[in-house]
Amino acid sequence: MKYQSTRGHEMPQSFSEILLGGLAPDGGLFLPQRYPQVSSEELEAWRKLSYADLAFEILSRFCDDIPADDLRALTRKTYTPEVYCNARPGDNTADITPLRKLGDENGAPLYLLGLSNGPTLAFKDMAMQLLGNLFEYALARAGQELNILGATSGDTGSAAEYAMRGKRGIRVFMLSPHRKMSAFQTAQMFSLQDPNIFNIAVEGVFDDCQDIVKAVSNDHAFKARQKIGTVNSINWARVVAQVVYYFKGWLLATTGPGQKVSFCVPSGNFGNVCAGHIARMMGLPIDRLVVATNENDVLDEFFRTGVYRVRKAAETFHTSSPSMDISKASNFERFVFDLVDRDAGRLAQLFRDVDTKGGFDLNASGEFARIREFGFVSGRSTHGDRVATIRDLSSRYGVTIDTHTADGVKVAREHLSAGTPMVVLETALPAKFADTIREALGREPERPASFEGIEALPQRFEVMPADVELVKGFIARHTGL
Ligand SMILES: *Cc1c(COP(=O)(O)O)cnc(C)c1O
Repeated sequence: MKYQSTRGHEMPQSFSEILLGGLAPDGGLFLPQRYPQVSSEELEAWRKLSYADLAFEILSRFCDDIPADDLRALTRKTYTPEVYCNARPGDNTADITPLRKLGDENGAPLYLLGLSNGPTLAFKDMAMQLLGNLFEYALARAGQELNILGATSGDTGSAAEYAMRGKRGIRVFMLSPHRKMSAFQTAQMFSLQDPNIFNIAVEGVFDDCQDIVKAVSNDHAFKARQKIGTVNSINWARVVAQVVYYFKGWLLATTGPGQKVSFCVPSGNFGNVCAGHIARMMGLPIDRLVVATNENDVLDEFFRTGVYRVRKAAETFHTSSPSMDISKASNFERFVFDLVDRDAGRLAQLFRDVDTKGGFDLNASGEFARIREFGFVSGRSTHGDRVATIRDLSSRYGVTIDTHTADGVKVAREHLSAGTPMVVLETALPAKFADTIREALGREPERPASFEGIEALPQRFEVMPADVELVKGFIARHTGL
């Protein structure tokens, strides 16, 4: 299995070669040269597998340069009920991503797929926990080390820290705006006592943190000497790890071969639903892939009109489903590559248009007319929809969902088809978004037992002015490089 760039760069790479990297050398994204195919006999045989062994079966088709025994050990170490322990009472934690039936609506069984039972209560743990183990393994094999630098306003940073804590050969330097995160988020990150995790609380806002990360990364000599890397959402291993739970969700929602299932995905950078697209291209019987956005509706606009129009910072709203507040979708290029029949020249032109003209229109070329062949439909949701949906699910089914999942349920309900199971991906647990839960239900969200009282734990962090040189000095002192 070799990987190529969406923009045509020739020099096929192996999985291990692209594991630690980001963009391809020509600015494109890596994709396998072809998608491995899964037959319906294989799918049926997978019904009896644990999540870890299912992950092995799927991942081994994408990374044939890691010995099978090693890969199986990595998936078994990652996907355990102890790591994914925060499921709702009554859910089967042995499934890792338990499927919960809400009810039948318009003749369609409506389900939640619980992807948020990991250490940070959001679906990013599903991929990031594997990434931590894969990175540690690959760095040890190559005799290298890696210093991950990132900026966070809450969610991504904590998933990275919980994935990399205690990993040999890896340090994490995570910048966050001092006193701007919720008490819960702050406690989640700052209570980590692992010596390889460094929380830097910057006296400024999130944009200051991001500017510092950019400035450090643009100092190429410093970056190389300090072995600085990132773990952003375009990382291929993150995308492929997410493919696994579409298979798991399908297996849990069906009883036999060929049955179709639709998935609804609360979307931001298009990483999650891109994994669904790949599962469908591999032969998983997916009917619809429903893209749900919030008020930041770049993707909904594209799937309705064929026009992709990225937003400016001033047009990007801060919403109550903040992990979907994006102005452009960094993984979208991977899907567009397949939509234009893998024509790298055409793809490169389209994304040059994104940079120079702010977007592109696929109507005149006839490419947009093919969108239904790929199963995609979409919808958008607002704060009012989230609050109403959280209330409705609480009273109708006795289930409390978070704001992102509420966007998903709202949009899923607009695309139900009698007889076809609709699986909404639960991308976070409500404990993380207490303000909106209080607004909707007039009470605090349930908190998994492992999070009781975390605000009272001792915290380990460094407060620093928003100053690039000071941050560089801090990194150099702690890496000793
Ligand atoms: C990151 C995130 C999303 C968006 O996922 P993408 O892969 O960026 O589309 C949705 N919900 C939650 C809770 C998230 O953390």
